[in-house]
Amino acid sequence: MKCLITGGAGFIGGYVTEYLLNEGHEVTILDNLSTGRASNLDHLKDHPKLTIRVGSITDPVLLSEVMAGQDEVYHLAAAVGVKLVAEDPVRTIETNIYPTELLLRLAVQGGQKFFLASTSEAYGKNEKDRWVEDDDLHFGPTSKPRWAYGCSKAIDEFLALAYHQKFGLPVVIGRFFNVVGPRQVGNYGMVIPRFVEAALQGTAPTVYDDGEQVRCFAHVSEVVKCVVGLMRQDNLEHRLFNIGSDAPISIRELAERVIALVDPSLKIQYVPYKDYYGHDFEDVRRRVPDTTRLYETLGFKPEMTLDEILKDTIESKKKELGR
Ligand code: UDP
Repeated sequence: MKCLITGGAGFIGGYVTEYLLNEGHEVTILDNLSTGRASNLDHLKDHPKLTIRVGSITDPVLLSEVMAGQDEVYHLAAAVGVKLVAEDPVRTIETNIYPTELLLRLAVQGGQKFFLASTSEAYGKNEKDRWVEDDDLHFGPTSKPRWAYGCSKAIDEFLALAYHQKFGLPVVIGRFFNVVGPRQVGNYGMVIPRFVEAALQGTAPTVYDDGEQVRCFAHVSEVVKCVVGLMRQDNLEHRLFNIGSDAPISIRELAERVIALVDPSLKIQYVPYKDYYGHDFEDVRRRVPDTTRLYETLGFKPEMTLDEILKDTIESKKKELGR
């Protein structure tokens, strides 16, 4: 098969690329190397079945060119990272909405199967303990730029579902929940690489607010197996899936685990949200997926424990830092 991956040089994209190449497919990547890094593909760049196109998904001519002849599209390119996104909502909307619609249209014409990467941010700040795919989306006001990201991806989901209904386009939408693992960088928020990098450099992890906010962390390799697994199912009953771990942990406990594994002499630093994100920031206090639909469809779901994930991340960060 021939597969196109937009955002293929991103953290998750690099793993999707590797997975599809290992399955023997021809892979084309489109990436503008903004938040994606060429180094995510260093170990693959000479692969005979890989083509890397550096360019923007906002370029319509380039999009039709790279879509030609493909069998599957994995649309992962997006403006990502809560901080970056909150700082530039215009760029977020332009990058996350218009190109998705264009790609969907091209996929209807070209007959490609379509994976849309979406996000748990689409649930907003829904206060339920566990989020099921059909739950309501609870965004904050438009005066708080944070919600621009979740809203932009929710529009993408509406578009993808509409293209499925109207034109029969085979789409799969994955809502990712805090995906982590080797090669992820801390520049754009991303708590685990930030905590691990800090601890390895002898600095205390910085926990925002009281640290009682809750997340679930899934290893990228397991997430990618779910993504490709869903794309290979022929008669899907549903089109939208939570993809992630369903084992919750508070950010304070996460910091304690990192400290215990790297340097028990460190003490957590607590700082108010406004010192990092600015005044009009609003966090999501609890984010836990219900993964029943994913498990019932695939027969598997992300299961790696947080300690296994942290050990893997710590080992690879040590190598990056030359230890
Ligand atoms: N966080 C933190 N310290 C950091 C980075 C993040 O306390 O150095 C918190 C952040 O406020 C959020 C959680 O950790 O509550 C997860 O943040 P991340 O940016 O990784 O992902 P999010 O779940 O917010 O998309």
